[in-house]
Amino acid sequence: MIGNEAPVTLIAISAMLSYDNVDMKFADGERVHFIDRKGRQYPLTLCSGKVFQFSGEKIPHDDIIGQEDGTTVTLSRGSKFIVLKPTLSEYILKMPRGAQVIYPKDIGMILISGDIYPAARVVEAGIGSGALTMALLRAVGERGVVISYEIREDFSKRAQENIQLYNGKTNNLIIREQDICNGIGEEGVDRVILDLPEPWRVVPHAVQSLREGGIFLCYLPTILQVSTVVRALKESGNFIHIETSETLVRTWHVEDNSVRPDHRMVAHTGFITTARKVAV
Ligand code: SAH
Repeated sequence: MIGNEAPVTLIAISAMLSYDNVDMKFADGERVHFIDRKGRQYPLTLCSGKVFQFSGEKIPHDDIIGQEDGTTVTLSRGSKFIVLKPTLSEYILKMPRGAQVIYPKDIGMILISGDIYPAARVVEAGIGSGALTMALLRAVGERGVVISYEIREDFSKRAQENIQLYNGKTNNLIIREQDICNGIGEEGVDRVILDLPEPWRVVPHAVQSLREGGIFLCYLPTILQVSTVVRALKESGNFIHIETSETLVRTWHVEDNSVRPDHRMVAHTGFITTARKVAV
């Protein structure tokens, strides 16, 4: 405790908590997940006047709108479900997809390897289904901006729908329906984050666009692609700390007499390569 300052800090925290509580009620138009006894998740977008039907049972959406996050509801024949606001990773895994999304384990790693921070200016390509974009938007916060390049109009539209359903009104996203290989319009950006097949074609543009000390990051499924992009980064002469990693996450089965790794895991998704731009 530091002198008289401690009580002020406590008041600030309690004000924050009560503000958050107001937000924790389900609203019309919000995405929720129904959780059954076995922990399986069923997504639903709440819409006043509609009825949720499940295996011959029903519940009006209006019985859920206005309830608290984590509430238990009973359907017409007695089945009970817990209703939750999905976490970002739960939402991503159940949302409609155009392009393949980046899995949460890799998104987590991208945020820390790419050092995405509040108020950062981030250029991203492509937007795909918007999974990574949502995590970037959250990390840069309202004072930051994500500028997302995407060549396919249908993916851009789907991604915007996905982002809006989870985030509501989004003021920190700019979408450019352009090929990033033709150039990056923004200068002095903090991070360039790429999830597309030929990131080496973007390296010269990233050099122009990134500020000194900025970070280039790309996510690639095969090591031959990694080798090509690393060569391009080295040949450009503008980057140091060129590093590549993959992220393996193994879940565990924990029961009374059986505590062991799960039998199945996602073995391979992609490699993350990062590099730091410096003045030469
Ligand atoms: N990271 C996304 C998935 C991206 S899939 C997610 O988590 O949901 C790759 C995307 O890059 C596709 O939408 C594809 O249309 C786009 N793309 C491929 N090449 C591109 C280019 N040169 N410029 C802009 N977008 C590109």
